[in-house]
Amino acid sequence: MSAPLTGFAADLGGTKIAAARLEAGVVVERVQAPTDGAAGPEAQVAAIGALLARLGHTRGAPLGVAVAGRIDGAGAWHAVNTGTLPAILGYPLERELTRTLGRARCLNDAAAAGYGEALLGAGRDSDSFAYLTVSTGIGGGLVIGKRLIASGNGLAGHVGFVSNPHASGPCGSGRVATVESVAAGRAIAAAAAEAGHGGDARAVFEAAAEGADWAERIVARSAGAVATLIGDLAATLGLDTVALGGSIGLAPGYLVRVERALAGEPPLFRPRLVAAALGHDGPLVGALAMATGQPGAAASQATLRNSTAPASAAPSQKGRSM
Ligand code: ADP
Repeated sequence: MSAPLTGFAADLGGTKIAAARLEAGVVVERVQAPTDGAAGPEAQVAAIGALLARLGHTRGAPLGVAVAGRIDGAGAWHAVNTGTLPAILGYPLERELTRTLGRARCLNDAAAAGYGEALLGAGRDSDSFAYLTVSTGIGGGLVIGKRLIASGNGLAGHVGFVSNPHASGPCGSGRVATVESVAAGRAIAAAAAEAGHGGDARAVFEAAAEGADWAERIVARSAGAVATLIGDLAATLGLDTVALGGSIGLAPGYLVRVERALAGEPPLFRPRLVAAALGHDGPLVGALAMATGQPGAAASQATLRNSTAPASAAPSQKGRSM
């Protein structure tokens, strides 16, 4: 039996893959590599394995893996926004990682971060908590009464695909006018290109900081869309606290802009808004917490089991319990 929250974790996003060694819930060593978004799932597994090897991972050590996209009740991995990870179309990620590394528990990256924040970070004192990552895409981790909201198809919490009045265009999920399609990093870069400016979301934030009107409009629209999302989630879940994470959520000036936009909502729809306390480590901490069965993990896994309809899913669920 290993010490609580001691082991390894990986976090595969649309832009970067991070891996870490943790001791008692603290990241003590971290390595990172860019994500090859077009690569197939076997190559993604190899990239995760290579980073873990650099950290001295040994076969069978506790391992939590957080990924962009959904992980279903059988541990299979599916892209939801096929513009971000086009080659991930239902791959037995948990089974393959367990086969190659001896042990693994997988879940969505924002769900992992939300769970980590609820246990050890910005949501510690919250009874109805949402973590929102604004990064390459937009994701959510919803934790009510310290239980992560999970569903058998792995879609629960994918709040980036909620409709939004600030949006109008297509979304890689197949929906139209979603919050992700207007507010996330890819959308910010696309809006800049449309306005005749190159560069990624970071460049747009830098231009806004230097006072460029075109850039300020794009950043303010993103913040306004996220504020609307927060109001909608508050109405649905009775949230008392929302934490923002992701490189855009944590970018200087972003939270203040969201707060300003949220001020237009009636008080009841305005939860406390804070920055993610675990910063970029949230997905890593939460994934390992789920893998090592911290308080609440068992309840969240039970939710997942109960909501997985076919009885035939039972054997793979058994493999998921840790
Ligand atoms: P991932 O989506 O892989 O989890 P991140 O959370 O780092 O990764 O989000 C990547 C997105 O954040 C990209 O669109 C990138 O351009 C943008 N970004 C990175 N750093 C900054 C920054 N300092 N300010 C604004 N945007 C940033």
